[in-house]
Order: sequence, then structure tokens, then C-alpha cells
Amino acid sequence: MSIAENLADIKARLPENVELVAVSKFHPADAIKQAYGAGQRIFGESRPQELAAKIKELGRQEFPELQWHFIGHLQTNKLKLVLPYVAMVESVDSLHLLDEIQKWGEANSHITDVLLEVHVAAEESKQGFWEEEIIELLFNASKYSKIRFRGLMAMATNTPDESIINADFQRVDSFMAYLKELFPELKDFNQLSMGMSQDWPLAVKNGATIIRIGSAIFGERI
Ligand SMILES: *Cc1c(COP(=O)(O)O)cnc(C)c1O
Repeated sequence: MSIAENLADIKARLPENVELVAVSKFHPADAIKQAYGAGQRIFGESRPQELAAKIKELGRQEFPELQWHFIGHLQTNKLKLVLPYVAMVESVDSLHLLDEIQKWGEANSHITDVLLEVHVAAEESKQGFWEEEIIELLFNASKYSKIRFRGLMAMATNTPDESIINADFQRVDSFMAYLKELFPELKDFNQLSMGMSQDWPLAVKNGATIIRIGSAIFGERI
């Protein structure tokens, strides 16, 4: 199937209130052009240099409505390659990164929309904050004047067992509800990014507002 057909297939099954991020990492700019031509507007990239190269290649005039979400591990020495160009950093996974985004924002008069990556999967290797760390951090949200906290991002355990994946998503959804109750002053904290090619229907069932789909749109990564 073509990129346009894959997109149409997903869109047909996706509730209207859920945003689709097309994860274009490792795929050429030409694939993004095809998806844009088929109506896709938000693209996800995980490596600063690759993002910068694609921004160069995809001119603003030609693709005026194209938006980027950064979804990978972001090193603090790469902020200037990323922050000026993205609508959202979905993958804030440490206090150090958050502090550096704040500092960069102060120096450049720039507010960054972020999601906090929450550690939920069984694997030790997955990045992200523990739930307690997120609670503590959000109690100090007002000191981050250059950061707009938009919600949570999560990745489920990498397993074929759907009951485990479902439990992961359920847990994140409950945690999100808890945070909204605890921090009603955070008016924009309402986005839940979870679900990838293999598990997005389960994520949507459990309250995802953003899904991040790569291979089911663009094919296997090269
Ligand atoms: C690569 C990636 C995706 C997309 O994965 P697919 O399985 O290709 O849909 C989603 N989220 C993050 C954080 C990724 O790194």
C-alpha cells in the first residue's frame, strides 16, 4: 500500500479527537512530501540532525502547515537545533533537560510546549520519569515560565501480550486523570501521547489524544 493509502486506513479508524503524528524518522523527505500531499500535517522526528536536514529540505513556502514534534531523547547541547522549529517536545525525560529548556527559553524569549515522558513499561531500558518525580515536578510548575506543560507521553512494554500493553496504557490514563485533579491550575495539561504502529488501537481505547505512527504509514525503517 502507498503512504496515502496507509494514512487513509488509519484515519478511517481513528476518532476525530485523536491527533496523528506521522513518525518520519529514518525515512527521506520525499516520504514526508507524499504524506503531506495526502493531508498529513504533524510529523515526528527523534534525532536533531535528521530533523534539521529535513527542515532545510522541506521549505516553509511549499509546506506552510507542516508541524514537527520531537519524540526522541534530546541532549541539552542540541536544543538550538530543535526548539526553534518544533510545535512540541514529546519526550522530556529528565529534570536536567527541563531546566535547560527553561534556560534556553529565557535566553531566546521562547515558550516550549512539552510532554513529560512517564516510565511505565516493564523494561529497565525505557526512558522517562517515575510517577512520583512528575508529581513533585508539577508542584514546581510555576517556576518554569518558559515551559507549557501539555501532558504525558508513554511507551508500553514491548511484548506481544496485549493484556500487559493494555494494563500499561490504563495505568498512564489513570495517572493522567489523577494529575488533572491534583493540578487544575495547569489548564493546558490535557494531552496523552501513547500508541505506536503495533498498539495504537489499545492506546486510543485507553484515552490517548495523540498517537505516534511510523512503520504503519511509511513502511519498515531503512
Ligand atoms: C519510532 C517511534 C515511534 C513509531 O514507531 P512505529 O512502531 O514505527 O510506529 C513512536 N514513538 C517513538 C517515541 C518512537 O521513537
